[in-house]
Order: sequence, then structure tokens, then C-alpha cells
Amino acid sequence: APYNGPSAFHLSKRRKQYLPTFIDTFYTHPLNLVEGKMQYVYDENGRRYLDAFGGIATVLCGHCHPYVVEAIVNQTRLLQHTTVLYLNHAVVDFAEALAAKMPGELKVVVFTNSGTEANELALMMARLYTGYHDVISIRNGYHGNATSTMGVTAQFFYKFNVVQTGVHHVLNPDPYRGVFGLDGEKYANDVQEVINYGTCGHVAGIVAEAIQGVGGVIELAPGYLPAVYSIIKKAGGLFIADEVQSGFGRTGSHFWGFEAHGILPDIVTMAKGIGNGAPIGAVVTTPEIAKVLKYACFFSTFGGNPVSTAAGLAVLNVIEKDKLQQNAHVVGSYLKDRLKSLMEKHEIIGDVRGRGMLLGVDLVKDRQLKTPAKDENLHILEQMKDMGVLVGKGGFYGNVLRITPPLCFTKEDADFLVDVMDYTMSKM
Ligand code: PMP
Repeated sequence: APYNGPSAFHLSKRRKQYLPTFIDTFYTHPLNLVEGKMQYVYDENGRRYLDAFGGIATVLCGHCHPYVVEAIVNQTRLLQHTTVLYLNHAVVDFAEALAAKMPGELKVVVFTNSGTEANELALMMARLYTGYHDVISIRNGYHGNATSTMGVTAQFFYKFNVVQTGVHHVLNPDPYRGVFGLDGEKYANDVQEVINYGTCGHVAGIVAEAIQGVGGVIELAPGYLPAVYSIIKKAGGLFIADEVQSGFGRTGSHFWGFEAHGILPDIVTMAKGIGNGAPIGAVVTTPEIAKVLKYACFFSTFGGNPVSTAAGLAVLNVIEKDKLQQNAHVVGSYLKDRLKSLMEKHEIIGDVRGRGMLLGVDLVKDRQLKTPAKDENLHILEQMKDMGVLVGKGGFYGNVLRITPPLCFTKEDADFLVDVMDYTMSKM
């Protein structure tokens, strides 16, 4: 049925009155979305779109999932407050459930409002705990937009003239475009060299995504993270796993992205969809490392507020109840296979990669030269949107089509997405 909601959306009004201009880098004709239901969103005219990108941004288990909505409404009716000064069961319940999902000694949770804040805090804790200032991050990674996180983020257009001290960007172990191809250990040598020649020999740590999300869904070359892990340990540093995109079962095979690499981080950060849209981030670490905050008077007014943590707990329950990690594995693998088979038909697809429901399609003008096809990607995004499918873009060159749906995505949705992509590419 047509939606009888607000009148037409004025993009020009938004451009005048609301600063973030990121929207302009995506669609020529952006949508005004007014409703959501599981894997679908609806525009002001009642038109339905299959959302194959929003899963990463806000929605882990489906737009307006009734169980999560109920948890949020119930807690909002009961109490919304700061937890800086008062106890509240919702906060502890989520912290306890989250800690139960973590391996080893990772049992202390600190809540924040976003991924940026979680990574800022993690970096500060690593520096306080080790007594060293230098940190390593991987080229092409994204970790946030405050001073320290912008510093470790390694793409120039996210850096905004930041004052960045003690940050060292190492080679990206990118199996597709990287200089050493699939040889993870060769890339890891660069970390040792950077420590040898660029620091006092000791570092506070490294921050790394298990799969680079914003960077274009780049799976780190096999063997890289375990080798880097021991190099960092020898240099006295901590390993910070940024699970903002790869956590919470999205990769299908594992609940946390780092688990696929067989390492046990010292600090794990998470955010985005973990509250299914309620703003929340978290840092999880060991009791030993967490001690650095004990006397620091650290607080965040709304970090881990009762409404957001009630949402977080509900999300964890839904992931369990609806078997969403398994679904990410089964449907994600099916979708990846179908995308790969499109390569036989469309020369523009240079690479299909990722795990579970964190997938990327690298578009190239020339398969041999791997020349990024950025404009073509924008065209495909727009056309697919006009046919009712929302996908994302990313990568340093803006040529990677990103697919990160809510984890309730079905095989039929996967088929629809691939068919629409196939049709769009055939028409180019
Ligand atoms: N880490 C990663 C891996 C991210 O993808 C992002 C957001 N794109 C962040 C951190 C920052 O999260 P937020 O936007 O919530 O600050």
C-alpha cells in the first residue's frame, strides 16, 4: 500500500541545513526512507527496497526486529538515564552476555556510544597499560574519526589534517592488490621493520580489522595476523581487534572475525549494528588491562545507557534464537558462489571476496591491470537502487561494491540481488 507519510523529501533542503555530505558520494538521487521491516526498507512512496548494505551500519538482525523493538520500548518506558552514577540491571545483563561470547580472559566490558569512541578508548588503554606511545595500523584500514582513531585510519580522505603522533602504517596484506599477493608472512616482516626502524623497539600495540570493511572488504593474507601477533608481543605491545564490522556472527564461520585467524586479542572493540540501530559501542578486555581505567575517572554520560544495552542484549538473543550466525554462513556462502559465477559473464568483476555476510565485489576496467572501475560502480549502485536493491561502495578507489545485509537475509534475497546485478551489468 502506498505510504501516506510526510511530503516529498527535499534533498536541497538537506544539503543546506544538515552538514554531512557523504550522501552526495553515493547516489545521484538518494532515497528518503521512512520505514523498515527486517531486510526491507520503504521510501516515502511506499516502494520497497531490499537492503543489502544497512546490515553493517545499524541493523544486525533485521530492521525494526519486533523482539528488539519491544526490548527498547519496554526499557524506554521503565528508565533511560546515565549509568555513570547509578546501577542498572540492563547494563550489567548485556555486559555479562557479551563477556560470555568472548574467549580467554576477555571478560571486562566498557561501553561507549560509537565505534570511534571504542577505538579511542582501546588505544588509550594500550598506551596506558604498556607505557609506550607508538601504535601500528594497517594501510587502508578504517577505525574512526576522532584524533587517535583518525590517526590510525589509513586512507588520506578520512584524515582531515589530523595531528598524528606515534602512528605507523604498515603494508596492507591485500591478497588481490598487495605487493606480496597471498604471502602473509612477507607482509608481516614489514611490521617488524617498522618497529626496528621507526620506533624505540617497543610499541603500545596494533589495531587491525579481521576483514577491512570500509577499505573494500579485504581479507588479510593468510598467516599475516598470527605472525604479526607474535611480533607485537615481542615489542611489548597489545593486539586490538577492531570487530566493528566483522563481529557478531557476520562472517558466519565464527562469532568474531579474529577467531578465523587463530589469535586471541588483548582488546576487542565493537559497535555499529550491535544495538540494531540503538547507538552503542563496546571495548572488551582482560581484568588486568582494565585496571588502567580504575583510577582514571573515565566516564561517558550515555555510553552503555539502559536503552542501548537492552537493545544489545535483545540482539544477542535474536542472533541465538534465529540462528543468524549459521544463516550468515549458509546464505553468505551461497551468495558468494553466485557472485563468483557472475565473473564468467562480466569482465568488470575482478574479484569476489569476503566471508559470510561481509562480501565485496571488486570492479575493474581491465582484469590484467586491475584498473579500478569507480564510475561504473556508482552507475551500478544507482541502477540497482532503482530496481529495488541497496548495496554499498567502498575501497580506496571507490570501486568495490559492498554487500553487508542484515543477517536475516535469505537465499531468495541473494538470488534477487544477483539477478539485479547481472541485469545491470548486462545493460552497461
Ligand atoms: N571501525 C570500523 C572497522 C568501522 O567500519 C567503523 C565505521 N565505519 C568504525 C570503527 C567507527 O565507527 P563509528 O562510525 O560508529 O564511530
